[in-house]
Amino acid sequence: MSSGALCTGTSPAAAVLAPLGRDGGRALMLGHVHPDADVLGTLLALGLALEARGWSVTYGGPHPAPPALDFLPGVERYRRLATLDGAFDVAVLTDCPNPQRTEGLIEQARRASAVVLNIDHHPDNRRYGDVNWIDLSAAATGEMVYELLLALEAPLTPAIATNLFTAVHTDTGSFRYSNVTPRTFRIAAALVAAGAEPAFVSQALYERRAPDALRWLGEALRRIEVSDEGRLAWLALPSDGVEEALVESEELVNYPRSIATVRVACLFRERGREVKVSLRGKGDVDVQRIAAEFGGGGHRNAAGCTVDGPLAEAMRRVLAAVRRALAERKGPSAASEAAR
Ligand code: 5GP
Ligand code: MN
Repeated sequence: MSSGALCTGTSPAAAVLAPLGRDGGRALMLGHVHPDADVLGTLLALGLALEARGWSVTYGGPHPAPPALDFLPGVERYRRLATLDGAFDVAVLTDCPNPQRTEGLIEQARRASAVVLNIDHHPDNRRYGDVNWIDLSAAATGEMVYELLLALEAPLTPAIATNLFTAVHTDTGSFRYSNVTPRTFRIAAALVAAGAEPAFVSQALYERRAPDALRWLGEALRRIEVSDEGRLAWLALPSDGVEEALVESEELVNYPRSIATVRVACLFRERGREVKVSLRGKGDVDVQRIAAEFGGGGHRNAAGCTVDGPLAEAMRRVLAAVRRALAERKGPSAASEAAR
């Protein structure tokens, strides 16, 4: 692991700007596994801004962009990468706390690039870059890349603004989560002024379901289980019962989370021998710590991990860890009261 420069401000330090400031060069915009809108929107926004300054930019990562995000301007440039061709002046990773989430591409990027720039807002970021800009106060990496483009005096085109607006939109649950700050709205306002269209983004994200998708969604939601006096709810999807593309396009974990009494919500998705787990909290239990027990990570209120199957065994282990966290949170007196 490299021990590069660490910057933590809301605006990018000189060390962050230095590798991007010149006119022209070769840049790699490297995404992590299963890239979401915060990853793709920021990589595309920064890449498009560099291209406008004469840079040649390669966009990609271990997995392709999901069809649900096919509306992001420039996303057709983002490719699945197995190996990297040529040399780069800078490789940029956004929203990627753990270099292992690149499935080995980070090692290639290190060899091929003069500078690895790590831009992230996750508390468990491993600081694997030559330059690491970690702003825990940012609701999305989209806010950070907005500040970066401002500092670089890059023009905010409608395409760039749409990418950044979508990044902020999705990481804040459409501006609903506790990570939203006045700055989030200031940045969103600037992005809309620059040409991002909120109605277009909302429709593209939430109103492009196939005709039979709601029937399928209804069937999936029937599987939700609630326990522990309503404080824990989960949804488990075996690999044979559901279509992966539908699961990918729905934030399913938000449904168990939406129950009033729920403190921790879980989604279990069986994928072959592995089970992908999404965890959501509402502020009183740190779900990132639970995910970390299983080698995963994330934020206090939104985290995930991948654990070995079969599904029932994965659920047993993770739900036990969630119950331990809930019991700790409740404290001994409340716990004994509940036991009466
Ligand atoms: P989601 O549940 O939407 O996949 O992810 C929620 C948050 O947890 C995101 O910030 C994401 O980066 C993180 N996360 C999800 N899965 C994993 C994982 O397997 N490993 C790590 N380190 N973080 C994860
Ligand atoms: Mn993010």
